[in-house]
Amino acid sequence: MATAEAPGSHSVTSLSAADYAQAFNVERGRCFRMVDDVEGKPDRCPEPVTVSGSFKVGPKLYQVVSCNDHSEEPRKPSPL
Ligand SMILES: [Zn+2]
Repeated sequence: MATAEAPGSHSVTSLSAADYAQAFNVERGRCFRMVDDVEGKPDRCPEPVTVSGSFKVGPKLYQVVSCNDHSEEPRKPSPL
């Protein structure tokens, strides 16, 4: 009997949490943070956005919106 591969053990996804810890998106109306999807791959945070703020990556400052769960991360978050 073949041994089933454990979920998440395949090599297609080699990103660890640390690899995309700084990943984010600036799509309007979507939380800027990336989260694990059901397969453990990074996906955009699906939560409804509640605050807007700025997020610094190196020398660049991005305007982002964030859900309540991630609202601590943008600088100077303000309610939408
Ligand atoms: Zn979020």
